[in-house]
Amino acid sequence: MVKYATMAIRILSDQLASQIAAGEVVERPASVVKELVENAIDAGAKTINIEIRGGGRQLIQIADDGTGISSDEIETAFKRHATSKLAASEDLTAIETLGFRGEALAAIAAVSQVTAVSRANGEIAGTRLMLEGGDLTSRESVGAPNGTVIAVANLFFNVPARLKFLKSVTTEKKHIDEIITRYALAYPEIRFRLTHDNRITFQSSGGTLLDVLTAIYGAETAKQLLELRGNIRQPGEEDSLTGTTSASRSEIQVSGYIGPPGLNWSNRSQITLYVNGRWIKDNRLNYAVIQAYHTLLPVGRYPMAAAFITMPAESVDVNVHPAKTEVRFRQANAVFGALQRTIRQTLISDSPIPHATHFTSVIDQGWGGGTGGRSLGRQADPSMPGELDLKWGGEMVTMTGDGLDGQPAEPGDGGPKLPIMRVVGQVGASYIITEGPDGLYLIDQHAAHERVLYEKFMAEWEEKQDLEGMVSQGLVGGEAVHLSPAQSTLLDEQLDLMEKIGFQIEPFGPNAYMIRSIPAMLVKVDPARALQDVVEDLERGDAPLQGKIEERIILRVCKSAAVKAGQSLSFQEMEAMIRQLEGCRNPHTCPHGRPTLIHLSATQLAKEFGRT
Ligand code: ADP
Ligand code: MG
Repeated sequence: MVKYATMAIRILSDQLASQIAAGEVVERPASVVKELVENAIDAGAKTINIEIRGGGRQLIQIADDGTGISSDEIETAFKRHATSKLAASEDLTAIETLGFRGEALAAIAAVSQVTAVSRANGEIAGTRLMLEGGDLTSRESVGAPNGTVIAVANLFFNVPARLKFLKSVTTEKKHIDEIITRYALAYPEIRFRLTHDNRITFQSSGGTLLDVLTAIYGAETAKQLLELRGNIRQPGEEDSLTGTTSASRSEIQVSGYIGPPGLNWSNRSQITLYVNGRWIKDNRLNYAVIQAYHTLLPVGRYPMAAAFITMPAESVDVNVHPAKTEVRFRQANAVFGALQRTIRQTLISDSPIPHATHFTSVIDQGWGGGTGGRSLGRQADPSMPGELDLKWGGEMVTMTGDGLDGQPAEPGDGGPKLPIMRVVGQVGASYIITEGPDGLYLIDQHAAHERVLYEKFMAEWEEKQDLEGMVSQGLVGGEAVHLSPAQSTLLDEQLDLMEKIGFQIEPFGPNAYMIRSIPAMLVKVDPARALQDVVEDLERGDAPLQGKIEERIILRVCKSAAVKAGQSLSFQEMEAMIRQLEGCRNPHTCPHGRPTLIHLSATQLAKEFGRT
């Protein structure tokens, strides 16, 4: 421990200052990879080769065919705050390159042994520099192809404290893989090749985004992905709950691909977000993606998304942290809304019906011969509603990406979500069998009824609260609460909206409020907690209480869903159920995210019967 009184104030040595600054840019091998790849992209490279040894501790070498660095500038490039990407302070408000701080090369050189070879376009020879801990150790003219190769050896050799924090080689490799795949997605036209200890682990061939997704996830998964189609909402259209209108919404565009609900993971690692071509980390926006899948995914499962948000460069500040992965938006809520809505609408209009992937024929199960073919009409044991003569691949079902029977779904909310179906009968007192234009559908009657009720209750609620606002309940004597300054600012802006949803709140000193009444639906909650929750909804850009409302409606659905598994239905009842399901915005899953129906196509049936 350094005692504060024993040292005089002095300016840090250059080397120490560089090491301290380097700490923010270079946290681990993957950060070096990120910075060098960004430089190659900024230099207009078409091909970027990344070679890693020992998880990046021994060597990180990145070669590009970009513009190169001229021989009279290459030494400067390694100085702190040296950049060719920013000239005047106005440039900071509209950054279009990935780099701009002029820190990376200096920071990397300060904590490793660097060899840089570069030849600029138009120069006859290249230059090779060697640096150790930031000090130049050699410089010579060499023959070299156009472009730049930077080799970073023995990272943190002079910062033992950092070395100790590095994780296993496998972990560091994984971080590097993540960086490369993320940049390959953002720049599909660039050819990337990643080699770990002489083994190629990832390669993209310079094509479309879907090509890169295929390289990462494999063809089977890639073909299931749904393409995001811009910001479907019209400019100036009003947000029904938050009541905000903004012309600038139309300037926020969202594109990319998302997974259908049937593709899901146990964590958020497959959600990747980009703003103006820059990969960013933003928990709030991750949440916007997850929220778009609300009631479509089972609890605790997360979707896949590679979403590209574009907006005018001056609407986003990327100069928040040296690593440049955090950004600040001028209109964070508009960005949240655009992302969430685009994904939601794509899901609603394009999500396919789960497809039975493996059909085990009755003959395979040994019921051939005498009773052959009668299994579908067999009286199932109602205590075992799940016992069917079909087996589905994957956990329960897997999805196929071919939309609804080949009908292209319409953008927005208008297209049909289900084909026209004819009821054939019921099986196991649990499933309705229907015939559609392309084969057979099995509908889980209980799940379908839950979906129908859920949408009905939601619609009722939305209508009610538009007309009369929400029921409010007075508090005897009121309750005082304190909020953070940021939360108070937000609340002050939204007092009208708060009133609409049933909160009566009065300012009560700096950052303090007196709650006079709360929404009746929250009477069981501590009023201060209730207000806090709602303010947090606002902070995330959510419609306040939406989550609570949905939760309550789902509970109500569970209580009132009358049609259970194990209940025989008349033909009329089944028909009514199918018609109601057809009327749903989102008929493919129940509100808990389980599928309501599965599809067995005519082709699949023909195949199973050996007719093709
Ligand atoms: P920044 O990227 O923020 O400008 P860096 O320290 O990463 O800062 O790089 C400093 C400068 O070196 C860049 O502005 C660029 O002019 C040059 N440079 C770095 N890497 C390359 C490269 N691969 N190809 C061409 N020029 C490069
Ligand atoms: Mg850079």
